Amino acid sequence: LTRLYGPLTALSNVHVDIMTALVSFDRVFEVLDLRPAISDAPGARALPAGPVGLEFDRVSFRYPTPAEVSLASLESVAITDRQADPAGDTTSGADPAALVLDEVSFRADPGEMVALVGPSGAGKTTITHLVTRLYDPVEGSVRLGGHDLREVTADSLRGTVGVVTQDAHLFHDTVAENLRYARPDATDAEIASALRAARLDYLTTELPEGLDTVVGDRGYRLSGGEKQRLAIARLLLKAPALVVLDEATAHLDSESEAAVQEALAEALRGRTSLIIAHRLSTVREADRILVLDHGHLVEHGTHHELLAAGGLYAQLYHTQFAPQEPSVPAAEAPGRV
Ligand code: ADP
Ligand code: MG
Repeated sequence: LTRLYGPLTALSNVHVDIMTALVSFDRVFEVLDLRPAISDAPGARALPAGPVGLEFDRVSFRYPTPAEVSLASLESVAITDRQADPAGDTTSGADPAALVLDEVSFRADPGEMVALVGPSGAGKTTITHLVTRLYDPVEGSVRLGGHDLREVTADSLRGTVGVVTQDAHLFHDTVAENLRYARPDATDAEIASALRAARLDYLTTELPEGLDTVVGDRGYRLSGGEKQRLAIARLLLKAPALVVLDEATAHLDSESEAAVQEALAEALRGRTSLIIAHRLSTVREADRILVLDHGHLVEHGTHHELLAAGGLYAQLYHTQFAPQEPSVPAAEAPGRV
């Protein structure tokens, strides 16, 4: 742990744009649900514990260009100050053509499950990057429990939001320690129960040294599905107030998917969640569905409302919700099943 936290702490005052240039660091943040790269604003407050709602208020965003990334490395202090001020100058938002998100507004009230769907490249994953503050919006604001994320501490944000993505990453460490990254004080019994819920309890007996077996790219190689279930076990241990799932079950075989969906449903109960799903069965359950296309929120409603509307959702229903997301936008692949 020290090995990883050392460099992270040292870099914590450096603006996030630099971090994105360092792919390996980006990976580390993903795993730990850590987004410490943007430093706390002066007077930043801790998010209160308990249920939170999520709100996007006219959020526009574009990714920084390579030139801006190198500029940021020279002017990290100035950039940090500007980013920390919600009402601050936003000259970097000038080019509308480059916008990845264009005035996106939505809410997930406390305890609500909101699903986000849209063709590949629509900006779904980018929305998760803003929720975890890997980046700040160019315009508009992202709020949790009514607090603009630029005014809350990174520490409390990390404790409030739990993310599982499509490609879960493991540390070169034991299974047990990989889980304790989510909650250092977890007891053996809690770890066992999280593993059971994620249908990974067989690791205890099947790995050469049980939960003390070192896993990861240079250790014992777990399958893609096993890694994803380990990430889900982490989520269960962490039990965050806001759960963000970005195609979190994409790599599971259908047999383990059903079981893991059950565990996830359990983990989501009573929590606010934002779910990017590739399976219709999950989307259908949502209290509300948001449809994103080319960075615009084009539709929202329940499954039945959206089907009746006969718009993009209805189109996706017939194309994208096949076992695999098509590699081209659904609009360009009519009739694809
Ligand atoms: P989705 O998850 O809906 O498939 P993304 O949010 O990943 O879409 O991507 C939205 C757009 O942003 C795409 O055009 C993609 O190429 C671009 N994009 C995603 N990540 C980056 C990045 N790190 N830097 C620059 N552009 C990016
Ligand atoms: Mg995505």
